Order: sequence, then C-alpha cells, then structure tokens
Amino acid sequence: MDLLEYQGKQFFAQFGIPVSDGRAVTTVDEAVEAAEAVGYPVVVKAQVHVGGRGKAGGVKLANDVDEVRLHAGNILGLDIRGHVVRTLWIEVASDIAEEYYASFTLDRSAKKHLGMLSAEGGVEIETVAVENPDAIAKIWIDPVVGLTEDVCRAWVAAAKLNPAATEGAVDILTKLYRAYTEGDADLVEINPLILKTDGKVHALDAKVTLDANADFRHEGWDEYEATQVRDEREQAAKEKGLQYVGLDGSVGIIANGAGLAMSTLDVVNQVGGSPANFLDIGGGANADVMAGALEIINNDPRVKSIFINIFGGITRGEEVANGIVEALSRVTIEAPIVIRLDGTNAEEGRAILEPHLSDKLQSKPTMLEAARAAVELAK
Ligand code: GDP
Ligand code: MN
Repeated sequence: MDLLEYQGKQFFAQFGIPVSDGRAVTTVDEAVEAAEAVGYPVVVKAQVHVGGRGKAGGVKLANDVDEVRLHAGNILGLDIRGHVVRTLWIEVASDIAEEYYASFTLDRSAKKHLGMLSAEGGVEIETVAVENPDAIAKIWIDPVVGLTEDVCRAWVAAAKLNPAATEGAVDILTKLYRAYTEGDADLVEINPLILKTDGKVHALDAKVTLDANADFRHEGWDEYEATQVRDEREQAAKEKGLQYVGLDGSVGIIANGAGLAMSTLDVVNQVGGSPANFLDIGGGANADVMAGALEIINNDPRVKSIFINIFGGITRGEEVANGIVEALSRVTIEAPIVIRLDGTNAEEGRAILEPHLSDKLQSKPTMLEAARAAVELAK
C-alpha cells in the first residue's frame, strides 16, 4: 500500500522524524488558507502516487499569496505520468544546504533489510545509482540484530555526509529504521534528506510503502486504504473479497489456493500462453464465490479464454461442480471455459459437469491438457 507524501510525513512524524509543518488541501482557496496558516515562503507540492514530481512541475516555491494561487492553480489537475493531481501539500519552505538520500527496504535474496544512504541525494538519484553506484553506501541489517548505533555511525561515515550532519543523520536513520520495522513498511525512502542552513537534518520528502498484510494491527490505515489507486479489476475483486492480481495476458485464471493459482500461471506460460490474472478463490468453491470470480474475469476485455483449475481437498468435487454449474446459470460468460477438476470426488464432480459440456465449456483431466486447450482457445 503506497502512501502519498503527506501521509508518509505524518507516518514519519509518529516516529519522531522531523518533517515540515504543512496542510493537505484540494482547492486553490484552501491552498492560500494553508499558506497563511503555516507562513511564507511555502512549497506547493503535488500529491500523487508517482515520483519525479519536481521535474514534472509538481513542486513549486511560493513567496506570497499570488504565487500560491498561481502554482496551486497550475498543479491541481496536472497530469504527472498518468496520475492527475487532486490534492496538494502546502508546507513551510526549508533552506537547504545539502540534499542526501536515505532508504530501507527488504533484500529478499539476502534475507536482510537493506539500508541505502548517499551524500548525492535529490532529483538525480536514479542517475547517481547508474553512473556512480559507489556514491551510495549500503548496509545489510539482520532483522534479529537490528540497526545498532555503532553500525549506523559507521554507515553515515561511509556515505561521506557533511560532518555537520552526522548527529542528525544518525538520529533520523535510527528512527527511520524503527518506522520501517515497527511500522510494518516494505519501503521507506527520504529523498532528499536535507541538511538545513541552520545545521539541522530534516526529511523533505517521504515515500512509504506499507505491508497491507499488517493492516489488522494498525488503526489508522483505513485512510491510506481510501487513497489507493487500483487497477479497476483489482478494485472490483477486492469488493467481492477475492484474491486477485491483474496481469496483461489473455487467459483468465480461477484456481483454489494460492499455490495452485501460481502453478496455473506457470503452466499457462509453459505452453506458450499468457495469463490475464491471478485469482485464488480460496477453499470454498461454492456458487457465490465462483459466480463472483467469473464476473470479474468476464468483465476483463483482455480475456479470450478462461481456465478453471480446481483441486478438491476439503471442498469435494461435486460441490465444486455444482457451484460451477449454478454460477454459469447466473452469469453469461463470453469467453470459452476449460475446467480441470481433480482431487476429492473428482469423478463425481466431472459427472455433474458432463451434461453441460460444449465447445464453450470443456473439461480436461490434467492441468497440462487443460492449459493447452485454454491457450489454444485464447489464440
Ligand atoms: P520529487 O521530485 O517528487 O522527488 O519531489 P521532492 O519533494 O523531492 O522535491 C523535489 C525537489 O524540490 C527537492 O529535491 C528540492 O530540491 C526542491 N524542494 C522541495 N522542497 C523544498 C523546500 O522546502 N525548499 C527548497 N529550497 N527546495 C525544495
Ligand atoms: Mn523526492
């Protein structure tokens, strides 16, 4: 779950990371009101779920009310790489001496947290990463050990920040690591982390991705949820309580169990096809769940065929088959369907499907044969 900059800053502030005072607004008049409240000069900042706002004209300094009106008017409605600006963050402008970069994220292959710190932060950090990777000091942190002060100090020294920034940087990085771990984030990034002309270190931007699996233990996450931008298909699936990820192929996939759904994607790829989605209907393949899943897939114009891959476990084959038959009587499906039904009481299930089979509803005994048929039909 990606946070907007201002939400990220509020998240950081909960862990004691210094950020600028500001207000989130949605109109020019509110922007002016916010600027008067926080005091000039201010920065008018586009709030969208995409980086590079500065280069796209989405971050502007304003010294007085006329400049706030001008910039707020220009930035509201601006399209930044496909994201239209509806919200602005108006914050007190900072006097910058130097711009740094800091982040924590998970390095899955190392099974450790990865911290990155650079004295060359700011809007060109991607170029630095490519052309001068040595300018980024990296540390891998064992999650059991955590980030100790000694390690943090050595890391700051390795990044060659201005010595005047050392204490402030160690303090912020320690807090940022806590925000990342205790806050259940997958990514926290401050770019730029600034050394101000008054010698203080401060977070001038915030990029935070939270682990949505942890939302049950965080009261305040509902408002972040409300501002997410989702694939329309994913939104519809979420409303039906389905585990769905949209992809861009042509074979719609319904499977029971995440592992089976994953293998189904693999096997479709293996026989030369491309999946339109990942959809796990979980344990109970009853008519309601199956009808919901078919509706989601049916509404996707990319889908040219549908592969239903069910392995009966606790859910028995005849229940699944009855669910499919009833779902098909409720929803009119455009694309041809191939079903592979196996596991507990598969024979009984196939017998139930038998009278309903046609060119548009085929049954195959194995996963591979079903995948081949579905991929062929998608051509
Ligand atoms: P991004 O382009 O989406 O990463 O947006 P940022 O929030 O990082 O802002 C881009 C750049 O605008 C920063 O690197 C700064 O150089 C500049 N900037 C942002 N806020 C301020 C501020 O308060 N004062 C000054 N002088 N510059 C700022
Ligand atoms: Mn930035």
